Amino acid sequence: MTICRTCNVPMTEVRRFTSERNEKFQRCPKCYGETKHLKIFERELYIDNYLHNKGAK
Ligand SMILES: [Zn+2]
Repeated sequence: MTICRTCNVPMTEVRRFTSERNEKFQRCPKCYGETKHLKIFERELYIDNYLHNKGAK
């Protein structure tokens, strides 16, 4: 879980799937600030649920 440094609230994970790339990032629900976008590999889609609590950076 990532905390927004500005608002000090938990950020929500956003996943974006396009024809060119799959990526995920964290977005703050208050200020809509975003972390850097991380590329999602297909195999990660299967194991990501298990790693979610570790941040999987
Ligand atoms: Zn914020």
